Amino acid sequence: MSQFGTEFCDHISIVRYVGDRWQTPSIEPLAPLPMHPASHVFHYASTCFEGFKAYRWKDGKARIFRLRDHVARMQKSAASLRLPVPGTELLAGMVTSLVAQQARNIPEPPSSLYLRPTLIGTLPNIGAAAAPSTEATLFVLASPVGDYFAGGTATLKLLVEDQRARTTQHLGSTKTGGNYAAALGPTLDAKEKYGVDQVLFCPNGDVQETGAANFLLISDDEIITKPLDESFLHGMTRDSILKLGAELGYKISEKNFTVAELLEWVSTFEATLSGTAACLSPVGALVYKGKEIPVRDGSPGANTAKLQKVLQDIQYGLREDTHGWLTVAG
Ligand SMILES: *Cc1c(COP(=O)(O)O)cnc(C)c1O
Repeated sequence: MSQFGTEFCDHISIVRYVGDRWQTPSIEPLAPLPMHPASHVFHYASTCFEGFKAYRWKDGKARIFRLRDHVARMQKSAASLRLPVPGTELLAGMVTSLVAQQARNIPEPPSSLYLRPTLIGTLPNIGAAAAPSTEATLFVLASPVGDYFAGGTATLKLLVEDQRARTTQHLGSTKTGGNYAAALGPTLDAKEKYGVDQVLFCPNGDVQETGAANFLLISDDEIITKPLDESFLHGMTRDSILKLGAELGYKISEKNFTVAELLEWVSTFEATLSGTAACLSPVGALVYKGKEIPVRDGSPGANTAKLQKVLQDIQYGLREDTHGWLTVAG
């Protein structure tokens, strides 16, 4: 299968917000969107999105993972950007009808259908820098994706950045394009300078997350990660792993920790990134102040693999979904 995010289903679900109300959504052929050059999103970045997956089970029907929670997160993002907030039934319905229509195009697990609801401000007004976009377009794009680790599990190397932040404090938990724009420069600089894969942002020593994934430390009996606050994105993968980890007997320690503690703990803890695209991505080394520090012996850990398997078994229909995380479509 082609590279993640480059292949698309031939239809999208789309709806517009005009005159203070949402119109009726429709499924339309995938095509370029005609946009006014003065659209709010082009100038003032009024945009947010979601990312989650649907899996095709042996019965031919698709199962969407944590749909309601992703819809709620998107509503939160939209509200924080003062964009029109889509109703729960509107957005969930757009996703499930598109997935149902595309169910036969979903490749079998570990492949899946990646779903990308996107909301943009379309008000044609370049004088609205300090005003909300009162017109918007909401669409759901669908992309068949293969196994992220088809080439084998490579461990990642992260630069520990203890000065710069990924984004601003008040937009940290908003899934918005501007946050990626803010993380891009520092991440590319770090790749060039240190040969790392990602930057772990730890402003003033507070270990937060990378540009697009949460960060967890895992031992044989404990999972450590930052507690929820406004500074970072509240990942559904993070949340699912913490819930499953607790059931498997791990002590769940949601606590703030410093770079100094991190550097000490990685001699015994596994480290991993978490996010929908790759699930868990083991970290093999950190780079701090020009020095490379291995995470344990640098190889992927057994606890990370075990937790990932438990989560994926639920997504693939091989283990009971006791949390009601899956929505049937198709
Ligand atoms: C989307 C995202 C994540 C991961 O969230 P999941 O719900 O697990 O996919 C983590 N950090 C950032 C900055 C993100 O945008």
